[in-house]
Amino acid sequence: MFDPSCPKPDDQLEQEVMAILTDHRYDNDPVRDLLSRLWHRIEEQVDRLERVADISDLYQSHVLESNRSLTTRYEKQLRQIKRVVRISDLYQASLKELNLSLFEASTHDSLTGISNRRFMAERCLEEDQRAARHGSTYSMIILDVDHFKLINDEYGHATGDLMLVDFVKALSSSLRHYDIIARWGGEEFMALLIDADLSTAELVAKRMLANIREMRVSIDDMELKLTASLGLTEHKPDENYDATFRRADKALLMAKNAGRDRLVVIDPTNPLSHREISTLVSAAE
Ligand code: GH3
Ligand code: MG
Ligand code: MG
Repeated sequence: MFDPSCPKPDDQLEQEVMAILTDHRYDNDPVRDLLSRLWHRIEEQVDRLERVADISDLYQSHVLESNRSLTTRYEKQLRQIKRVVRISDLYQASLKELNLSLFEASTHDSLTGISNRRFMAERCLEEDQRAARHGSTYSMIILDVDHFKLINDEYGHATGDLMLVDFVKALSSSLRHYDIIARWGGEEFMALLIDADLSTAELVAKRMLANIREMRVSIDDMELKLTASLGLTEHKPDENYDATFRRADKALLMAKNAGRDRLVVIDPTNPLSHREISTLVSAAE
């Protein structure tokens, strides 16, 4: 078990142990056998540490190492493993950061920074489930910028982009803090008004219309503005968000057909009739 041809260690304690193990006077002493096994175990543990360090590419010449005392080798490997753990911590942190940015990219619109359609569809589904469980409600506004193609054609796509960013700011500032706004596609947006019945949602939608009308975008020495059409409805118990969406979208189409720059409200309890709002009494309502 004990190999007396091993190089002499430079640690005092290890030298003393080795002196006992190589002294034939202790050949038949049972304690010598125990000491020898203990020594062997320590050697194996240091070897194991070195193999771990080897995997991390920090291993140095085993021959050189084996000439040093077990204590020196052990402490060195421990230092190296600490370095490996630190590197691994950094790696984990950057992996976490990467995951976060991937999540952000897959759930948000890169131009405006608000939620994208995919994320909003998931939120709608959650609201459907919440409504079914707790009898809660929500309202939905679908908005579309009026004649946006003309804005692009006249001022260029980059200006169109800037206007979309400011448009989203005007929408966001109209919302209550727990409402969600998403880019549904192109120049079409959806606002999900959590726990809002139709009359509460109408106040929000009117605020949006007013804020959009007041919005001005300064490009060079021009002040550009735009209008939008809005369709609003409330979720009806037991329907899914897709049915709510279709009603809100129908209201939006009515707003477009009626001349744009207005809000159309469809009451879910009376879906065949609708109300049209184009004149606002007060923007701060
Ligand atoms: P309407 O009032 O009927 O909605 O007319 P519109 O011109 O807004 O509608 P249309 O669907 O004909 O055109 C939408 C335009 O929006 C065309 C498309 O190029 C533009 N658009 C969509 N997404 C973006 C974008 O991210 N940036 C810019 N600059 N334009 C966009
Ligand atoms: Mg449009
Ligand atoms: Mg559109």
